[in-house]
Amino acid sequence: MVLADRIQQVAASPTMGLDAKAKALKAAGVDVISFGVGEPDFDTPAHVKEAGIKAIEGNFTRYTAVEGIPELKKAIVEKFARDNQLTYTPEQIVVNCGGKHTIYNLTQVLFQEGDEVIIPAPYWVSYPPMVILAGARPVIVSTREANGFKLTAEELKAAITPATKALILNSPSNPTGAVYTREDLQAIAGVLLENKIWVISDDIYEKIIFDGIRFFNLANLHPDLKPRTIIAHGVAKTYAMTGWRIGYMAAPKEVASAVSKLQSQSTSNPCSIAQKAAVAALNGPQDSVQAMVAAFDERRRFLVETLNRMEGVRCGTPGGAFYVFPNVSSYYGKSCQGRTIHGSSDLSDYLLEEARIAVVPGSAFGDDTCVRLSYAISLEDNRRGLERMAEALSRLK
Ligand code: GLU
Repeated sequence: MVLADRIQQVAASPTMGLDAKAKALKAAGVDVISFGVGEPDFDTPAHVKEAGIKAIEGNFTRYTAVEGIPELKKAIVEKFARDNQLTYTPEQIVVNCGGKHTIYNLTQVLFQEGDEVIIPAPYWVSYPPMVILAGARPVIVSTREANGFKLTAEELKAAITPATKALILNSPSNPTGAVYTREDLQAIAGVLLENKIWVISDDIYEKIIFDGIRFFNLANLHPDLKPRTIIAHGVAKTYAMTGWRIGYMAAPKEVASAVSKLQSQSTSNPCSIAQKAAVAALNGPQDSVQAMVAAFDERRRFLVETLNRMEGVRCGTPGGAFYVFPNVSSYYGKSCQGRTIHGSSDLSDYLLEEARIAVVPGSAFGDDTCVRLSYAISLEDNRRGLERMAEALSRLK
């Protein structure tokens, strides 16, 4: 029996794989500190949970409209108007089964064989495999650490060919935490205006942003780009709702109805109960978001400072999301007890086995010089984890 070529062209998600490994070790009684998978360690806010419970008790447990309930689509339209000064009609909104599903759906309806999709590296682990699963070719454009890991207009321009179908841009970025400023985006917009390609703007970390930085995307920056910019978003990161699986998009009508069609033949509606909870999250009080961001900020500062104090480690200050992406490449070629570190994957294995900390190798994000640490764990665990890291690194000679 032979599997389809399509699925053999991609590997399983390294973030999900590492999470499973860390959880298995924990279940076996090993004291692992996981900087692995990126999900807020906070509880879903009480009023959001309450809305889910109410949905179950009110028997809101049947199929809903494939593209999401009108109440949630309305809340999403209002969110874009309120936060981003973007006007959409409900027909332009589709609710999906998590932010990952939002992007997967988009790759399926937009891309095909012969298409090239520009993905700045470091990138979120699933963009390239999703593009490959759609039959298209990911074109990876490496950004520079010295430039805060942000794609420049020149780098974008050089990557565009007649086959280019789209650019996937993620700000704040997973894994680097880089936030594109208005000026950064204006420069990129200049190139995009001359080249008719789609933009997938992955805004999932919009609300997790520090130092008073203002959030922009290409749709709200330039009215001419809005008709070909699709915003991928979700409630998971903002409201600590990763398990509820609610993502959403704002798109031109033709794209939104294509996604609804695909969804009608694949998943049908996202979970009815989770949709009700998402309405409460978007429409309700936002103080839990502020509290969460304040806690992330404290950890971020601690990590950046502590990592930069470690010999041979260099770590920029992320402006958003909840990851740090330190450069650890000075340890490559060093050894401990006959074990030599050849790259980020070896270093991650070494840290898991020798220091019992889980970090994601930078190679998974298209940059082997770094490793990613998600600091969505308590400050105390961050502290303990970094102590272990420093000690294990000091043994590499
Ligand atoms: N976006 C999160 C991460 O990068 C979730 C895991 C995933 O789906 O990759 O860790």
